[in-house]
Amino acid sequence: MKPPVTLGRADEPLPEACDVAIVGGGVMGLSTAYAVAESSKLRVVVLERSYLVSGASGRNGGGVRMQWGDEGNVRVMMESIEICRGLAQELGINLWFRQGGYLFLARSEAGEQRLRRNAELHHRVGAPTRLLGPEEARELVPELDVHDVRLAAFNPKDGVVFPWPFVWGYAGQAIRRGVVVRTHTAVEAAEADGAGLRLRLSTGESLRANLVVNATGAWCHGLNHSLGVRLPNRPHRHEILSTEPLKPFLDPLVVDLASGLYFSQSTRGEIVAGITMPDHGDGGTDVDQSSSLGFLAHLGRTLAAVMPRLGRLKVLRQWAGAYDVSPDGDAIVGPSPGVPALLQLCGFTGHGFMMAPAVGRMLARFIVRGERHPMLERWDPTRFVDGRSRAREDMIIG
Ligand SMILES: Cc1cc2nc3c(=O)[nH]c(=O)nc-3n(C[C@H](O)[C@H](O)[C@H](O)COP(=O)(O)OP(=O)(O)OC[C@H]3O[C@@H](n4cnc5c(N)ncnc54)[C@H](O)[C@@H]3O)c2cc1C
Repeated sequence: MKPPVTLGRADEPLPEACDVAIVGGGVMGLSTAYAVAESSKLRVVVLERSYLVSGASGRNGGGVRMQWGDEGNVRVMMESIEICRGLAQELGINLWFRQGGYLFLARSEAGEQRLRRNAELHHRVGAPTRLLGPEEARELVPELDVHDVRLAAFNPKDGVVFPWPFVWGYAGQAIRRGVVVRTHTAVEAAEADGAGLRLRLSTGESLRANLVVNATGAWCHGLNHSLGVRLPNRPHRHEILSTEPLKPFLDPLVVDLASGLYFSQSTRGEIVAGITMPDHGDGGTDVDQSSSLGFLAHLGRTLAAVMPRLGRLKVLRQWAGAYDVSPDGDAIVGPSPGVPALLQLCGFTGHGFMMAPAVGRMLARFIVRGERHPMLERWDPTRFVDGRSRAREDMIIG
């Protein structure tokens, strides 16, 4: 049996220089570190200013779906879900991946049209989404209030995971392949050093890297600004809660398009739920991870209306994290405008967790072999400079 690996240490010795320094030990940074180490001999260092699941990757709902409104996103998620199916074995850790499907509910004509449009797209690319009437939706989720539901969409391949072991699994396997994962060490500034960059660390150390990946999610502006890179993505507080456990009864993750409510049942029986809060406005580049009574009240009222039985549940835990929101809803990935040695891996809004398995591999192929996946053209950070930004993906929840 292989000895256990520690998942990053605050006293891990750092080399003086490396090929790739990844700043941010969330799911994006670690899935990329693992994929680079898996496919090359490049020396990789991950720098995390806190513990490994301290960012959005340790605070999310674990939802994983291929039901998107845009073909590129559907294809990325078909690949990601396929990877997820074998990932527990590959990473050697239980991810609690459960494919109970996602059930979207539409209560307006516009919502109904959205689901019909998406279902046609899904069929064309091979995603098994089915359109359901209200009573069929209730057969899947008993006690759902469907009185004004016009149409539902269900994809049985969508599902949920438990986020923490997902991140730990990537970290453990990256370390086994020689990646240095240093925790409790912030990158405070960066400067040009030949064709690469030198990172100044909160411990007083410095590290030179040929290539630096900015995988700091909602905090990405600190590193960007120190190199003069300005991008339009902004942090946005997103709240979520979990309840006392119930005997398992709920297979799909349910999304109510009208309110932005979503809820699922974890493998431990808790109901995990979040909702769009339109008043959680733009606070500039400051990250707010505080919880609010307003969210609790709004979510409680909406959840009880959509599924009255859940209105009596006790809430055990309420928390918040930060979405990293880009103006067009697309991620921001690739060489930075004016600083090619700094790769962005940001702007994943509310869907970075589910995309990380495919995106980590995609970015690793770019770093190791210079291969440009078509999504990297679309996610190119320079699109904001030369105005190539596209129409917004319409299936972003929260
Ligand atoms: C409440 C909530 C629910 C969500 N639900 C879902 C969902 O159901 N499905 C889904 O796919 N996505 C969901 N998301 C989005 C998803 O969590 C994120 O898109 C994803 O985790 C982003 O991963 P990341 O690695 O880019 O960022 P993070 O996980 O935030 O990692 C960034 C890391 O960088 C570190 N860092 C910051 N600054 C520095 C620095 N200067 N030096 C060193 N380290 C630094 C931070 O400490 C952090 O650990 C949700 C998000 C939230 C908040």
